[in-house]
Amino acid sequence: MHTYLKLLYIIVFFTILIFINSIFINVYAENINIYSFEKDNSIRLLLSSEKKILSNSFILEDPPRLVVDVENINKFSKNNFEYKYIKKIRASKSNNKARLVFDLKIPAKNFKKKIFSENISGAHVLLIDLNLFATQKIINKNVIVIDAGHGGPDPGAIRSNIKEKDLTLMAAKILREELLKRNFIVYLTRSSDRYIKLRNRVKYARNKSADLFISIHADSTKNKNTKGTSIYSLSEKASDKLSQALADRDNKSDLIAGLDLDDLDKEVSDILIDLSRRETKNSSISFAELFIDHLEKQNFNLLRRPHRQAGFAVLKAPDVPSVLIEMGFISNNSDFKKLTDPNFQEKLMKNTANIVEIYFNSIK
Ligand SMILES: [Zn+2]
Repeated sequence: MHTYLKLLYIIVFFTILIFINSIFINVYAENINIYSFEKDNSIRLLLSSEKKILSNSFILEDPPRLVVDVENINKFSKNNFEYKYIKKIRASKSNNKARLVFDLKIPAKNFKKKIFSENISGAHVLLIDLNLFATQKIINKNVIVIDAGHGGPDPGAIRSNIKEKDLTLMAAKILREELLKRNFIVYLTRSSDRYIKLRNRVKYARNKSADLFISIHADSTKNKNTKGTSIYSLSEKASDKLSQALADRDNKSDLIAGLDLDDLDKEVSDILIDLSRRETKNSSISFAELFIDHLEKQNFNLLRRPHRQAGFAVLKAPDVPSVLIEMGFISNNSDFKKLTDPNFQEKLMKNTANIVEIYFNSIK
């Protein structure tokens, strides 16, 4: 009898707890509609919901952006987006809090922020106005994040004292110089011999609001005859066995470095994903196709079917077009000679920079 009573108490207690909890959650916004209007000298963001919107917003530089944190939001939809001053919208969600990031094309210091909160015929409305001090010239330089594969305790592929991590860093630095000459904004995930978690490489690219992420590798494979340059775009299913093996190997990178591989898919549980993923995937594919097309014309030695798809962890940013370049195979004799030749690296990276330029001109 005593046990039953105890059980009853527990049931009543949890019922009350769930009830209180549900009241609390329902007070605030769950679905938010975002409208944006851009006029000559201002951006107006209008967030509307049937429920009260709890939010906090602030402006940050590098990259210039307006950050809006909204509590208790499950979904949002956007309308009327004209991208005159807004470069793109990113969103991420943790627990009940959603962070909306509006990347701006103009340094944030040129904006003055004003906020109004109103209740218009039953709808809760939050208005955020960003007013420009003066007419500004939009400088929309594209941001490229270059990722030298491996590093630190993870050497990548090795052959007679030559380590993949050193080859990728050398190439990344050449590519940076070439892209700077072509007026791009360039960041390297690493510029020294150190290890960075795969998820942090992706995070870095997202935080920099990158327009393109290029990961550089020079892996090895069991078949010593396999050779040539290739490029990968993301696919959950690998296009073939070699692609799968390479992705598996590189995804294990975090384990080699003595770290657990984070669950990237969980991390990328963003609410904007559906909206931006398709676009991102298509952009990655068109860059990869352009890359192969161009290198073919320049008589580079390419891997058979040089554009492949695999589930590399570093390609999983939902809103940054990402590709992975395998410069060649360290396990093949002729590729090994090329990869260790600074002239070849320079030639390949110069061409890669040209392709980046062609790519951005084509989507302007
Ligand atoms: Zn690699």
